Amino acid sequence: MRNYIILYKLLTKITVLFFRLFSYFCQKYPNMKYIGAHVSAEGGVENAPLNAKEIEATAFAFFTKNQRRWESPPLSARSIALFKENCAKTGFSSAQILPHDGYLINLGHPEKEALEKSRNAFNDEMLRAEQLGLSLLNFHPGGHLNAISLDKCLCRISESINLALDKTKGVTAVIENTAGQGSNVGFSFAHLAQIIDRVYDKNRIGVCIDTCHTYSAGYDLKTETGYLQTWLEFDEIVGANYLRAIHLNDTKKEQGSRVDRHENIGLGFLGKEVFIRMMKDSRFDNIPIILETPDSEQWADEIAWLKSIM
Ligand SMILES: [Zn+2]
Ligand SMILES: [Zn+2]
Repeated sequence: MRNYIILYKLLTKITVLFFRLFSYFCQKYPNMKYIGAHVSAEGGVENAPLNAKEIEATAFAFFTKNQRRWESPPLSARSIALFKENCAKTGFSSAQILPHDGYLINLGHPEKEALEKSRNAFNDEMLRAEQLGLSLLNFHPGGHLNAISLDKCLCRISESINLALDKTKGVTAVIENTAGQGSNVGFSFAHLAQIIDRVYDKNRIGVCIDTCHTYSAGYDLKTETGYLQTWLEFDEIVGANYLRAIHLNDTKKEQGSRVDRHENIGLGFLGKEVFIRMMKDSRFDNIPIILETPDSEQWADEIAWLKSIM
């Protein structure tokens, strides 16, 4: 009997000690969620962190050049220095910043000349991110335009990424999953896995999951079981370790519509529940979570609401 009491006391002490240590580490290394929006860089990239700060964001996305044009002047030394200075002033580290590439780029283009043009533009996007001291570049994989097979298109995308990684240092290429509109590839987790598989430097390839695209592509993110199943499937097919960022959008279109129409949080087919679930899910700690919702007037409120859930 005496032995049991001693054992009981010992176990109690060990349990208390364990919880003390656990809470000590939780306080010392808090898991953070970085939440922000795709902000304007009008007037120069140096304005992006300031615009993000204004809406109390702890992450931001932006374009480093005009997203609808092939050519843009290189970033000036002054702009680069100011960008870094403003990021330091407003408390943004590279882990909280997700530049997005231009809309014209198609890294899986079926035609040689157009593919070349896209690759050059993508290399330039990667270089700009590197010059700004950033560690991520978010891009849309591309489309086969019904001229080559899906497989061939995915191969080209991997090759385009390899070429860009060869030419730059320190920037991870972050593929965004798509809604699968038109001939766009990357709407299935299997496509993302296939692209990653052929990339040589696995340390500099990652994935950004867009909640609107995922739902439009057919994955059930909305229900509780669908949510669990979708992220399980992502882990099994792509690998949770490749998740580098989230685009947080509701959607104007139904599940499986394959149409890409973002909606403000809680106002679309996804509803609020999935976003509450995500804010409580540690899988999305320490990576940029970016709103691309259509009404930018709502961003400050959306960010405040998301923060309040954590
Ligand atoms: Zn997106
Ligand atoms: Zn979209």
